[in-house]
Amino acid sequence: MKIEENYPLERHNTFRLPVKTRWFMEYGNEEELEKILRDEYFQECGSLHIGGGSNLLFLNDVNGIVLHSQIKGMAVTEETDDYVLLRVGAAEMWDDVVACTVANGWSGIENLSLIPGEAGAAAVQNIGAYGTEIKNVLVKAEAYNQLTFEKRLFTNAECEYAYRYSYFKNEHNDPHIITHITLRLSKRPTVSPAAVRETVISRRRDKLPDPAVLGNAGSFFMNPVISPVQFEKLKEKHPAMLSYPAAEGKVKLSAAWLIEQCGFKGKRYGEVGIYEKHALILVNFGGATGNEIALLAESIRMEVENRFGIGLTPEVRYV
Ligand SMILES: Cc1cc2nc3c(=O)[nH]c(=O)nc-3n(C[C@H](O)[C@H](O)[C@H](O)COP(=O)(O)OP(=O)(O)OC[C@H]3O[C@@H](n4cnc5c(N)ncnc54)[C@H](O)[C@@H]3O)c2cc1C
Repeated sequence: MKIEENYPLERHNTFRLPVKTRWFMEYGNEEELEKILRDEYFQECGSLHIGGGSNLLFLNDVNGIVLHSQIKGMAVTEETDDYVLLRVGAAEMWDDVVACTVANGWSGIENLSLIPGEAGAAAVQNIGAYGTEIKNVLVKAEAYNQLTFEKRLFTNAECEYAYRYSYFKNEHNDPHIITHITLRLSKRPTVSPAAVRETVISRRRDKLPDPAVLGNAGSFFMNPVISPVQFEKLKEKHPAMLSYPAAEGKVKLSAAWLIEQCGFKGKRYGEVGIYEKHALILVNFGGATGNEIALLAESIRMEVENRFGIGLTPEVRYV
């Protein structure tokens, strides 16, 4: 177990904000995690569990505990002629998991190539890209209840997945820490997973900024989902408005398109700005604070609301 005081988080958030945490704790197995959870001092302090910090916006230093998993490993737990079940430690880098499945010729997550972050968080976030979400392949998640210390197996249905949403994101539920996830991958792909991965990686490299070079957290806002009636009214006023079919007959709008129409794409304000190739990505050019990024996000949100009457919701979690 690793415990550090006044620990810098710059390497632990992809906006590269130079914030600190009072305590940083890293556990290597479930026993160590249980020990931390049962500790009275831990229970008194506020705590935040992070993965790779690729979806977090730190507004201040953390005056509590930042917790991070080091539980790694990937193992096939079941195999038939058609599929494998792959159990993955929460701290595995998500893209390493994708690379491993593709190298074995298994399909299911190749569309989710190159998404930053760790496997545990991927299950929390219900990550998605190119028409696939992790919910399509996740069989179960193993998690510890932070309040009762009980270990619980969540089936796919119990994860309550929806667009960028899961049971674990609902603040009304007891907080849970995921230690492992199990994915069901097909051994009979219809197209080559390796070819798909290559295409996805090349598209993403072309379109998205690399956080190692330019601080960012991917899409800052979620795509708004509205009713067909509301959409028809908007479409009358804005015939070029981009849209996609969503669950339950609803309509998903492109947040990037809405932001671009408001003239934000490629704009720079001091050390913060909107990426020149993608209007949904807010960037830290170096030296920005979390509050400056939050202020820019708020002006974008207000402008889109004034112009289209649509409220954008951040996908990024403010800390
Ligand atoms: C360049 C770029 C591109 C991106 N592209 C995409 C994309 O295409 N699709 C997409 O869906 N996302 C995308 N993202 C967002 C991000 O990669 C995902 O949200 C990712 O799953 C976050 O993983 P993380 O490990 O960094 O989690 P963090 O940002 O550290 O945490 C995210 C949330 O998960 C919680 N959490 C972390 N670990 C655990 C755990 N073990 N147990 C319980 N809770 C936990 C945290 O408390 C937090 O609420 C992108 C981000 C970047 C920077």
